[in-house]
Amino acid sequence: MFARLVISFAVLLVSLPLSQAQTSEDGDPLESYLAYQGENFLIEGVKLVDVGNGTAGDTYDVLLLNGWIARVAPAGSLEASEGTIVVAGHGKTLIPGLVGMHNHLHMPGAPSMAAEAARLYLASGVTTIQTAGSADPIGELALQRDIEAGLAPGPRIASSAPYITGPGGNGPMEKPLDELAARRFVDEWAGRGVSTIKLYRHTDPVIAEIIIEQAHKRGLRVAGHLCSITYEEAARMGIDSIEHGLHPASDFVAEKSKGVCIPSVDAKAELAVNDPRLDELISILVEKNVALTSTLAIQESRFPQRPQADDRVLDLLAPHLAEASRQRTEAMAGMDVTPAISEAYWGLLLSFERRFVKAGGTLLAGPDTGRHVLPGLGDQRNFELLREAGFSTQDVLKIMSQNGADALGLGKEIGGVQTGRRAELVLLNGNLEADPSIIREVVVVFNGGRAYDPARLIMGLEGMIGK
Ligand SMILES: [Zn+2]
Repeated sequence: MFARLVISFAVLLVSLPLSQAQTSEDGDPLESYLAYQGENFLIEGVKLVDVGNGTAGDTYDVLLLNGWIARVAPAGSLEASEGTIVVAGHGKTLIPGLVGMHNHLHMPGAPSMAAEAARLYLASGVTTIQTAGSADPIGELALQRDIEAGLAPGPRIASSAPYITGPGGNGPMEKPLDELAARRFVDEWAGRGVSTIKLYRHTDPVIAEIIIEQAHKRGLRVAGHLCSITYEEAARMGIDSIEHGLHPASDFVAEKSKGVCIPSVDAKAELAVNDPRLDELISILVEKNVALTSTLAIQESRFPQRPQADDRVLDLLAPHLAEASRQRTEAMAGMDVTPAISEAYWGLLLSFERRFVKAGGTLLAGPDTGRHVLPGLGDQRNFELLREAGFSTQDVLKIMSQNGADALGLGKEIGGVQTGRRAELVLLNGNLEADPSIIREVVVVFNGGRAYDPARLIMGLEGMIGK
């Protein structure tokens, strides 16, 4: 009887209009983004998709106290104590916050959108990101600190140094010319607090090797969008992750000189899906413990027969970028389908990622923002595409959460809906296992002891991305 009363009281708390609750004078800068005031929540009767928590179809009560998961128990077995906010989980799915591992705070045409990007990530259920390359490393570190201090909304950020490339590479990127410059670069950025060094397409192999060695000495990860260096060479150097799945691999170009970046897509588009050289490459990556980062959302945008920008994206883009996106979609509709943008090549990219995981490889994921692939929304698209690639819902959540958490050294704290982990969780409106598009239906994002309302995080961003 007492328990019933307590629950009714909690329900009353939930139903208080936020405008009244906001009259508190603690001056929380994040208050206007919240779904509920309070730190303690009981999510009742919710579906979980976590390997450690029973099977599909079972429902659970999940108790969150001060930003941590205090209990996970069969539905109906937990009672809310006074001050605990009851959240109805019936018909909904609770998943771990997504850990995006190739999640820039910029995109081409939109170099300074970090604060907006951070809000979009969080609203979309992404609670941790590795930026895997930064256009504004100083700004990124400042935003990371603001988020850590509770001054700005956004995911936990593992920041990156400026991109490194080599002779012939993009103008604004760093091009260390010798060993001393390479080691100094790593030391300087390690000292500033970044977590990741990103090697870009024209990096010299000798410099790459030095960068990787020095980065590991300083406890940093090295991610590579490769071209001048083959996947096999990078794996033997000890790189931590190779970005964009199979697509940039130059391993299959017949006449490749060492250290030179040349086009490689046609050589791959000729490969049969069961070519044994693909499995040989996979076994080297697995043996060397190199993670592969899937960025299917941005890769899909190259294929004219695939869906392009949807209304959700067009509403968020600045008008000139929305118009460019519409024109691009129109132009693509009339394109001749070459092997490099064929259904067969798309199938090869998907199958490579599936086989990599089957062989014991660690797949990570991130949207690689650009074109119509926006922060957070691109992560949700990745979820749908990895399901399309043949992974189960559980597998995709592992790829998009636990694997990233492990790679960042946070694998015991986040990445699952388990007692004793941080309450970085996403409540989705529907049954995710039955319908992958439910990943877009975010109801509440729990993060840092707060419960965020995605609509409030997105409010005001319409037409602003890239402005
Ligand atoms: Zn990228």
